[in-house]
Amino acid sequence: MRSDSKTYEEVAKNCSAFAPVTSKNSYSNSTSNTPGQISCVNCKHFTQEKYCELDLYDEIVEDKKLF
Ligand code: SF4
Repeated sequence: MRSDSKTYEEVAKNCSAFAPVTSKNSYSNSTSNTPGQISCVNCKHFTQEKYCELDLYDEIVEDKKLF
């Protein structure tokens, strides 16, 4: 599966299950977790293995012909 940050954004914008991770940890210093950005990487359904636990990612990519 090819994926880059742009694709993650496009998928998240088209995903009805997008649930932003709201980090309550003020000590979080992760640069990839920009608050407010709509992207799979900021979704709580996105696992550490860079995989959508709801299996929606591939579906949306194919449906929207993002590639
Ligand atoms: S990780 Fe899954 S649920 Fe979250 S925005 Fe991406 S496709 Fe949607």
